[in-house]
Amino acid sequence: MATAAERLAFQDLSHALVAREYGIAGAAVPLGGEGSNFLIDAGDGRRFVLKFADADDRTALEHAAMAHLAAADLPFSLPRTVQARSGAAEVACELPDGSAGSARLLTYVRGTPWYERRAPATGAMRRELGRMLGSIDRALEGFRHPDAARTHPWDLTAVDRHRPTVRWIDTAERRRLAESMFHLWAACARLRFGELPRSVIHGDANDENVLLDGDRVAGLVDFGDALESPTVCELAIALAYAMLEPASSEAGPEGPALQGPALHSVPARDPVRRGAEVVAGYHEQRPLSPAELDVLFPLVCGRLAVTVSVAAERRRSDPDHPTWFITEDRAWRLIEVLAPIDPIDAAQQLAAGIDVRPAIETGPPPDAIIEARRRNVSAALSIAYRQPLEFVRGDGQYLYNHRGRPYLDLVNNVCHVGHAHPRVVEAGARQMARLSTNTRYLHELLTTYAERLVATLPAPLEVCFFVNSGSEANELALRLARTHTGARDVIVVDGAYHGNTDTLVAMSPYKFNGPGGTGVPRPWVHVAPCPDGFRGGYRGSDRATGEAYGDAVGEVLRRASASVAAFFAEPLMSCAGQIVPPDGYFETAFHHVRGAGGVCVIDEVQTGFGRVGSHFWGFERHIVVPDVVVMGKPIGNGHPIGAVVTTRAIANSFENGMEFFSSFGGNPVSCAIGLAVLDVIRDEALQARAARLGARLLDGLRELASRHSLIGDVRGAGLFLGVELVRNRETLEPADTEAAALVNRLKDRGLLLSTDGPYHNVIKIKPPMVLSDDDADMFVRALDDEL
Ligand code: PMP
Repeated sequence: MATAAERLAFQDLSHALVAREYGIAGAAVPLGGEGSNFLIDAGDGRRFVLKFADADDRTALEHAAMAHLAAADLPFSLPRTVQARSGAAEVACELPDGSAGSARLLTYVRGTPWYERRAPATGAMRRELGRMLGSIDRALEGFRHPDAARTHPWDLTAVDRHRPTVRWIDTAERRRLAESMFHLWAACARLRFGELPRSVIHGDANDENVLLDGDRVAGLVDFGDALESPTVCELAIALAYAMLEPASSEAGPEGPALQGPALHSVPARDPVRRGAEVVAGYHEQRPLSPAELDVLFPLVCGRLAVTVSVAAERRRSDPDHPTWFITEDRAWRLIEVLAPIDPIDAAQQLAAGIDVRPAIETGPPPDAIIEARRRNVSAALSIAYRQPLEFVRGDGQYLYNHRGRPYLDLVNNVCHVGHAHPRVVEAGARQMARLSTNTRYLHELLTTYAERLVATLPAPLEVCFFVNSGSEANELALRLARTHTGARDVIVVDGAYHGNTDTLVAMSPYKFNGPGGTGVPRPWVHVAPCPDGFRGGYRGSDRATGEAYGDAVGEVLRRASASVAAFFAEPLMSCAGQIVPPDGYFETAFHHVRGAGGVCVIDEVQTGFGRVGSHFWGFERHIVVPDVVVMGKPIGNGHPIGAVVTTRAIANSFENGMEFFSSFGGNPVSCAIGLAVLDVIRDEALQARAARLGARLLDGLRELASRHSLIGDVRGAGLFLGVELVRNRETLEPADTEAAALVNRLKDRGLLLSTDGPYHNVIKIKPPMVLSDDDADMFVRALDDEL
């Protein structure tokens, strides 16, 4: 609102303007609210509201929506446009600050704002509020307007624009609460907007715009925020206010609720039940679908998050503003009540008075599953987190637990193009309904897929084998190398993991040096140092360091008692702690291995398919071409596929008469899915996205490292990142318990991560590649607070 002097100037202008343009002589009294509005009393019983706007404000939608609703003749009072003498809906004028503006005159809607009510609202009033909004939305269903495709700061479909503002909220606990509200909105509402019916809505049924006449809901004013949106946003905005505790501190105990089907004699003290009454009234006039019911609570949370973030931002510019913070305290108290409520419970409670049930998927209690696992599943299968998580659904970068609670997945790199990607699901389902056979019959999808995979690789990598896992692919790579070279031994990198078979466990220092392992390599396995420039034998990220580690591979070769069939390495080492080998490492290592007649195998199970951002394959970050490339995890987005691609020469050596056959490998369903994954990576430009988001995360994490001494190193490429925690930057003492505690605390905030590295002190980040900027920023803020 303007200063006192400006208000006086506006008042004079109002007075003159209504006389000149509308032929009305009357006093102009300023009205509250955020705009410059004046009550015009004509003295003859007629009252109006005069509203000013800047010249570039578009008000045509507002006039058209009001006219459309006037024609619908609803039993509630809504403002109407009063035409000027000229017949126009608004008139141009010069505003007190000298700028060009416009004014419009509306009929006055009798009543007092809900906000000013002293006595507690009744259930009947809330139900009537719902009925009014339901009838308005039903009446607006057929209404279209060219200006409706707009947005503004309170647009409930664009709540994320306020998310960075969370940082201005003053306590860590409140920041956590606000983030959790945004998170619920993003994961449970935003992702589902495409499923919801849309229409023009009033878009601001807050407690200043809803007018009461005694105990009755009289009407609704201010169509200035109208826009096209999922229709249910209308209800959610009203709910956010109806669920706030009463504005007046004098409010006594609340009256009994209106008796409805399932609301019978429920006292409406708790906010969700208050909301249920509005929902019941709305549903009478405009029935809600299950999908609309599902998103309602997350939308309310989104609206509350905006309320408190905007307040935090405004406090920075004018902490003493008389009206900016009127809802803030109540919003915080409501957020505190809502945050612990699971989405399924909230949806069910909001639907207490209606005959529609939410569609949110749920599961049995985790304890029942843990018990059943104890009976029939080996305990060698570990379960993540001290308090295990049970997931029933995935969508994009989110996983949803058995109570509908969303988790941002920052660690599952298998669901590379996003959980349950519709194109991948569709491709698999379509082919599954048609045919799944084996590779002894001809099928076009096998060759099409092989051709597409090979096209992503440099020559001379051109012959494909298809299996069902990364382990099988590494097993086959080993057989290829041994057959081709006639040698038996292998060199692996310290800390590596290559698979779960007996042979591969023997080739995985991560396993044989880990719990339950023998602690010593078998005679045919030789371990080269991990090219870890942070805590390894050679420190640094320059070429000389890379070459030193490459020469160490040569040293291992020389010391090996037998000739070596293959050198196995990941392009960036995952289990070893998200290690980025310095330039020069692979060139040097490959030179030594090939010099000794060995084959160079690159395990791209963790790093392939665009994850490193700059390239499609991790090895392409270096000036090398491997002899064998091993693929797994992301290749089928969760469908079990493994693949090996090699050179013609090595493939020829393998064609010695013994058939290679995998019952499932290369079946048409897997090929269809593999093709869909490649299509999505290309069509959604996910490699470029990984590059952009990886850089954003690295920047954010490095900034954290400058303020938090617990962070020893931040490293990675694209969306394959690691944060190594140390207790002391000199001694590099690994902060493993701290890493575990952080991962658990972040889980409690709805973020999934895990630790890795020989000391379990590296937080690894390798999310589905559909991660958004918003998600990345939220993670950095959350980590900052938890650190
Ligand atoms: N190689 C690497 C680098 C891996 O990380 C893994 C699995 N974590 C494998 C191979 C084995 O793949 P799978 O679990 O599909 O057998």
